Amino acid sequence: MNAAATWVFQDPLQNPENLTFWQEAQQGRLMLKHCSACDRFHHYPRPYCPHCGSDQTTWRPSAGLGQVYSFTRMLRGVEIPYLMAYVQLDEGVTMMTHLQASDWDAVHIGMRVQVSFSASVSAQNVPVFVPHEPAAAP
Ligand SMILES: [Zn+2]
Repeated sequence: MNAAATWVFQDPLQNPENLTFWQEAQQGRLMLKHCSACDRFHHYPRPYCPHCGSDQTTWRPSAGLGQVYSFTRMLRGVEIPYLMAYVQLDEGVTMMTHLQASDWDAVHIGMRVQVSFSASVSAQNVPVFVPHEPAAAP
């Protein structure tokens, strides 16, 4: 099945913990929180590291690449069908996200994906994922 229309997100709820995430997304960058005490990334953004409890967390850019950990087709009770997925980023964190693919039958667990951005009703960039297309060799 192919999606016939594009999903438009409601505006994301912004708070002090995720403000940088949304500001950077607006510039087309996916940012993750990194803990310098245990050298691990985490998502969603929060002031204390969920792995070790340290407050030594900073923002770092993600390469925006990962793989589908799990996904489902949202078909019933929605105006526009969409794919909901857990994407495991190469940095080690897992994000719940929308997956935008022209060919839904080609989507599979382990599929390589890359971040893209979709505008909300007020034009805030919201990260979504699309099938990874490696850059062509020169
Ligand atoms: Zn930590």
